[in-house]
Amino acid sequence: MKHTFVAGIMIFFCLILSTGHAPADGQADTPVTIGTGDVTGVFYQAGGAVSRIVNRKRQQYGIRCVVESTDGSVYNINAVLAGTLDFGFAQSDRQHQATYGGADWQEAGPQGDLRAMFSLYSEACTLCVAEDAGIRTIMDLKGKRVNLGNPGSGHRQNSIDALTAAGMDYKKDLIALEDKASEAPRLLQAGKIDAFFYTVGHPTGAILSAIAGERKVRIIPMNDVAKKLVKEYPYYVRTLIPIKYYRSAVNTEDIHTFGVRATLITSARVSDRITYAIVKEVFENFGHFQSLHVAFKALEKEKMLENPSASAQFHPGAIRYYKEVGLMK
Ligand code: GLU
Repeated sequence: MKHTFVAGIMIFFCLILSTGHAPADGQADTPVTIGTGDVTGVFYQAGGAVSRIVNRKRQQYGIRCVVESTDGSVYNINAVLAGTLDFGFAQSDRQHQATYGGADWQEAGPQGDLRAMFSLYSEACTLCVAEDAGIRTIMDLKGKRVNLGNPGSGHRQNSIDALTAAGMDYKKDLIALEDKASEAPRLLQAGKIDAFFYTVGHPTGAILSAIAGERKVRIIPMNDVAKKLVKEYPYYVRTLIPIKYYRSAVNTEDIHTFGVRATLITSARVSDRITYAIVKEVFENFGHFQSLHVAFKALEKEKMLENPSASAQFHPGAIRYYKEVGLMK
């Protein structure tokens, strides 16, 4: 009798394991890590949105997405390539540079294992300045304390490109700081910096907190710089920041600048099963996904597959889904 009971229990556990489904307590779920950015940015929100949607099907797929706040695009690409993250958000310019061995990947060369999933909203290079610092154009940054962004972020290179296009040498013509975007609003309000750059989707917590303080803040248009940069680089586009999101800023009109797209990347090492599940759940629950952040509202499925947002090859698991639904031939 006792033996029959023990055998029964063993058969029960074997059956659970052989179904491939996660047990109810979720212990056997495969954790899938997604690198984002600062908690005050939009990458973090996007990571949360993807996870929320995919994790509803935890039982079916046996995967559980986990979002990590990171240094940003460059960090995410390198971590995904090194296998310490499964997925990461990255600016489309950074995806392009990693794919072809430019900028931060000049020494390492083209990163052939990088794979694209899809792209999302547009990220605008945003230059916030303290009104009392007397800055009206990017040229006025000369001699000022300017946060360009932390190493590992995507926006740091955009700040450098903007300054270079404006004819400035960021190493000589100003006091360049390397703080995280989440620190910049506090530093600006405390009078420790005069300005900061941040390439980000809008609206975003970082800019909202920068303009919410006592020190008045202006967002500087970069029209001329944008015109130059789109001619020079294939991945920059002209874009604008709607002022309606930032009513407490000194500006009253939309701000013309340049930008890139936010994209989700992975590596060839990640399984088709996982990439297929993520793409499928986001695309099949599109309305819900769009409702999770204002920046996602204007998304269109077809545009999420466009170049140059995806300069890396698409992951085969993503391709499988896109072909199934006719988004790809
Ligand atoms: N674009 C920034 C970066 O690549 C991050 C923006 C965000 O966190 O939303 O580092």
